[in-house]
Amino acid sequence: MAIPVERTRSPKARPAEAELGFGKYFTDHMFRVDWAEGRGWHAPRVVPYGPISLDPAASALHYGQAIFEGLKAFRHPGGMRLFRPGAHLARLTRSAERLCIPPVDEALLLDGVKTLLRTDADWLPGGPGTSLYVRPVVFATEAFLGVRPAKAYTLLAFLSPVAGYFSGPPRPLRIWVERERARAARGGIGGAKAAANYVASLLAAEEAKARGFDQVLWLDGAEHRDLEEIGTMNVFAAIGGTVVTPSLEGTILAGVTRDSVLQVLRGWGVPVEERRIELDELATAHRAGRLAEVFGTGTASVVAPIGEVAWPGEALRLAAPGAESLGERLRAEISGIQRGERPDRLGWLEPV
Ligand code: PMP
Repeated sequence: MAIPVERTRSPKARPAEAELGFGKYFTDHMFRVDWAEGRGWHAPRVVPYGPISLDPAASALHYGQAIFEGLKAFRHPGGMRLFRPGAHLARLTRSAERLCIPPVDEALLLDGVKTLLRTDADWLPGGPGTSLYVRPVVFATEAFLGVRPAKAYTLLAFLSPVAGYFSGPPRPLRIWVERERARAARGGIGGAKAAANYVASLLAAEEAKARGFDQVLWLDGAEHRDLEEIGTMNVFAAIGGTVVTPSLEGTILAGVTRDSVLQVLRGWGVPVEERRIELDELATAHRAGRLAEVFGTGTASVVAPIGEVAWPGEALRLAAPGAESLGERLRAEISGIQRGERPDRLGWLEPV
């Protein structure tokens, strides 16, 4: 069944591509579907983008049943393409399960996102590094103050035209290792893309920025010893010819880019290990001259080189990566696939 589209009567002016940045502008329409007990997901529709009304007792505001996703649509010689929507929607389903939110209807959401993308197709920017970022969000709307899973939810998906995270060659990031605060604990919700995980990270990120750093590297919440993730990126290190990244044990997000990077590296025959990595191991490898690269991966930046990893009394400095570094080769490969400049051998692109 086709999803109905109610078109806006007041389309917005398009921002200049040089102004885009990340997440500042929103297109003319959004997709909406609601969930109620007994009815399930119902009334999917594309409507004009704008504020929604919410009861002050809506439980998402009090008890935090709120999850989201972030994926991108690209300009491609064959038309608009979504990058790995199946992996992103599967992750939304896993997040929903962890937060006692009813399972999303992945097929309906994909249909809704595609209808939305077609409706706002002329918002897709064309410059290098640009894309339409797709943000689905699900939150509890039931007006009830008891602490239990809500009985009403809204799912919205909306679009933001975004620039390349970096213009020109990426500037290596300066990373501060957080050794006191924790983002997530074993057994907690760190593995879900839950709003609550982001608020847990804000204070340490602000403190790191005040010290002149770009992002925080989180360590495990129990011992503050093993690497977890960096801000909104998964972390990788190239140590003596092997690429290592923290294993997925429920405390970090299972990044779609992380998975893409692992698949590309395995395809190239590069040895990769998913395992616990102690901060000490990085320091020891750095002293021995074996720490070749550290980089972060995520939908926003694809691959972001790290130039410094610091904590009180220590600063591991890394040489700026050349075009032959693994990080740069991975960025070129994955961005190339996204834009149709390199073959999509693994079937990651979905026509819109
Ligand atoms: N970790 C966190 C906490 C994130 O928010 C993100 C961004 N979604 C990532 C890792 C990277 O995930 P992905 O590659 O799926 O964007």
